Amino acid sequence: QPIHDVVLAGAARFGDAPALVDGVTGESLSYTQLATAVGRVAAGLAEAGVAKGDVVALHSPNSIAYPIALYAAGRAGAVVTTVSSLATAEELAGQLRDSGASWIITVSALLPVSLAATDGGKGVREIILLDQDGPADYRTLADLRACTAAEPQVAIDPGTDLAVLPYSSGTTGLPKGVMLTHRSIATNLAQLDAVEPGVPGERVIAVLPFFHIYGLVILLHRPLQIGATVVVLPRFDLAQFLRTIQDHRIEGLIVAPPIVLALAKHPLVDEYDLSSIRYVRSAAAPLDADLAAACAARLGLATVQQGYGMTELSPATHIVPLADPAPAPGSVGKLVAATELRVRSLDGGGEDLGVGEHGEIVIRGPQVMKGYLGRPADTDTMIDPDGWLHTGDVGYVDERGYLFIVDRVKELIKYKGYQVAPAELEALLLTHPQIADAAVIGVTGEDGTERPKAFVVRAPGSALTESEVIDFVAARVAPYKKVRAVGFLDAVPKSASGKILRRELRGR
Ligand code: ATP
Ligand code: MG
Repeated sequence: QPIHDVVLAGAARFGDAPALVDGVTGESLSYTQLATAVGRVAAGLAEAGVAKGDVVALHSPNSIAYPIALYAAGRAGAVVTTVSSLATAEELAGQLRDSGASWIITVSALLPVSLAATDGGKGVREIILLDQDGPADYRTLADLRACTAAEPQVAIDPGTDLAVLPYSSGTTGLPKGVMLTHRSIATNLAQLDAVEPGVPGERVIAVLPFFHIYGLVILLHRPLQIGATVVVLPRFDLAQFLRTIQDHRIEGLIVAPPIVLALAKHPLVDEYDLSSIRYVRSAAAPLDADLAAACAARLGLATVQQGYGMTELSPATHIVPLADPAPAPGSVGKLVAATELRVRSLDGGGEDLGVGEHGEIVIRGPQVMKGYLGRPADTDTMIDPDGWLHTGDVGYVDERGYLFIVDRVKELIKYKGYQVAPAELEALLLTHPQIADAAVIGVTGEDGTERPKAFVVRAPGSALTESEVIDFVAARVAPYKKVRAVGFLDAVPKSASGKILRRELRGR
């Protein structure tokens, strides 16, 4: 079945239960209203000319209308390429070109970006607005919903047709279009459900962006498939986030490490009643065990459960089940069903390693992408002839089968024959009471040697110095891991999906 049908299959059963709630305005959509809106908008899009195989760029912050556009475009036979709501006109233009998008669905507030990216609308069939009303020259969500034509019946082959064309985060290079079929995503949903069955009626908060695979699958497809209520926020603002959790009695927090950091360390957290929270799940970037424990303790939880995945994996391969009585601290979880994992040596030989040994994680399974759109050479570097996807992540598996991610292969700092993981030093720095946030990169000196440099955000009121930071680290790590230089920042640059943008730090 196509993914929109998989997700909406239960809509009739959940009926009047709220599917989506706008965390700012309180406006909501029941499951019945969602299903009806998707049908009408699919008809409206088909009437506008959207047809099988067309690529539709969805450029919008999170909203309760977002999934309507997403599933309706799918039902009209289109492939949706999700675009960051923070994209500049050049970035949007690049993704439109690369993906071959012929339609843009956006919101009034971002219309200028679309117009700049397309030179006033050239090169696309139409720009449609996801608002109830907007400038008269544009078709809006309200216009589409008013369509009286029959719903389009488009034949979709779940195994080969693309469900979505998200772009990888571009953390390590240019973002690439990742071809994901309906089947790979549906399979991943089933794999996750087998480990962690959903709870109908559960209230989750969606502040991570829907354009990223994590938000898309874990905060839209999955909760809507199981009959949960998704409380949607358009962007992350700590006070608004905390207030929404309190007011909507949110039970599930599905987040990325920067939010775990805020929950563990920010003074504002104490001002809200967060007693409704039953669990916090984190993925998308390394999360240190101590930081996770501090966050859990502050919220009165036993632990923070991690998951692991990437855009190319639809997205998840590992998850710590909420019911796991004794999860390994710091682990990202155990492998989901029907998926294979190997740890491969990093020293060129590429042989398989055993329990506890550090190497590159490679994965094979039904959730592996079809490839990168228009980049066969990149696809071949990523997926080898035997079907193993090379994650680019260094990790190890313990004797009980829990996976630990050390860092990305590309980020390891090579110092005198040793390898230093920035994530380990960042985690240590965060244990300092006067450090609010930190990032570490390798800086190559005149002698050609790479040395760890820390960028530190001081806690309010702190006058921490470079030598104090260097000494703090030196007292706690092996000599080769010492931080050799420190820079101070107001904030660590991070992507919308919560990753440290080390290339921006390198540029400074
Ligand atoms: P690009 O591939 O374009 O450089 P990206 O790899 O950041 O960007 P994503 O697909 O969003 O794009 O992110 C996947 C990566 O996120 C993984 O390869 C891994 O490095 C990291 N990641 C995901 N979950 C975890 C986790 N629980 N712990 C540590 N790292 C994680
Ligand atoms: Mg990647």
